[in-house]
Amino acid sequence: MAWSKEVTCVGSDIRGCGTKLFVTESDLYLISGTDFDDTGISSIVCCCPKCGIETAVGDVECFPRGLRPSREQRKALFSTRSAQTLAK
Ligand SMILES: [Zn+2]
Repeated sequence: MAWSKEVTCVGSDIRGCGTKLFVTESDLYLISGTDFDDTGISSIVCCCPKCGIETAVGDVECFPRGLRPSREQRKALFSTRSAQTLAK
């Protein structure tokens, strides 16, 4: 059976948008600690499709198969979110 989990977009040093994300192995990827926070420990994270912020998924028993979106892709998602916030 495919692994999946509900994750809330909380972000790390930058706050996430709070959206509930339904993630599977292909949405997750491993990043080294220095890319994510200051702990230096690798984290399994997902990238929110609405705001581009990465959220650590915590202890998961799965094999992360996703690819990290490029900085440009994440920035594009983040600016989309900012534009939506301004429009309200
Ligand atoms: Zn988000």
